[in-house]
Amino acid sequence: MRILRTVESLREWRGMHEKVGFLPTMGALHDGHLSMVRRSVLENDATVVSVFVNPSQFAPGEDLDSYPRDLQSDVEKIAKCAADADPEITEARLAVFAPTVSAMYPSGIDLDASKQRGAFVEVLGCSHFLEGAVRPQFFRGVATVVTKLLNAVQPTVAYFGQKDAQQSVVVKRLVRDLLLPARIEVCPIVRESSGLAMSSRNAYLSADLRARAAVLYRSLCAAQEAFAAGTTDLAGLQHVVNSVLDTERPAVESVDYVSLNEPEFFQLTCTASRGCFLSIAVRMKGGVRLLDNVIL
Ligand code: AMP
Repeated sequence: MRILRTVESLREWRGMHEKVGFLPTMGALHDGHLSMVRRSVLENDATVVSVFVNPSQFAPGEDLDSYPRDLQSDVEKIAKCAADADPEITEARLAVFAPTVSAMYPSGIDLDASKQRGAFVEVLGCSHFLEGAVRPQFFRGVATVVTKLLNAVQPTVAYFGQKDAQQSVVVKRLVRDLLLPARIEVCPIVRESSGLAMSSRNAYLSADLRARAAVLYRSLCAAQEAFAAGTTDLAGLQHVVNSVLDTERPAVESVDYVSLNEPEFFQLTCTASRGCFLSIAVRMKGGVRLLDNVIL
């Protein structure tokens, strides 16, 4: 597999292939990421996975420095996963793009938004509530790095996870509004056997909390059952979710939100219909924040 460190080497690699699948990640890869690697390998001539912990989506005081990083292990996981998906895969058809911060931010990057200089991208109308309210710089950082990466890679198709539902809507809007040529595919959430959605940040949880965190998905499944039985109002669905989450207090320390959103702009809605996202954000004891969602 090629390990590409510069945009120039990435572009040279890109030029050798017609149909390229791209998977942007921040590394610390798990089976959720690898399910998309598998899909890309099967659907394209060549696949590139970016591994880049993007500073602009972290605010000062967030976990940028402690975010798990292990490029060697990520490379090994990608190689194994790709070879399992396609035993005929050649080295040239698989690449990891692991750029430096200065390659991605030629004007430099300060975590303090008021000191930032240079070009940034914002997607209005879907970025400033829910995750955007808790982390005001987050979607600006995500939209900026995704634009840079799509410009650098010029993929045929880019894969994103439904795990970050609001992010997937922001990215689809970004690509549509900025006339970027890539197709965006949103892939289903991969879960641990307990039901807990896989996340690089699950590594921050103790074994006990990790087991208890399965309650997030149980609460969403209960709401899905209530929806199937005719509950469509937000308050009714929130009640179902909260009462299941309450069974794991105090491991569940607080609930940031239980939200219903339509799929186009992720606008908040009080009445559920098929295709709506039901999303939750929960803070576990010790402070680790977990997200999960289902499509009703
Ligand atoms: P991250 O490295 O956390 O930025 O995630 C990179 C991509 O993987 C994003 O599009 C995520 O939505 C996606 N992803 C993360 N966790 C999962 C999961 N459990 N199942 C499917 N996709 C995921």
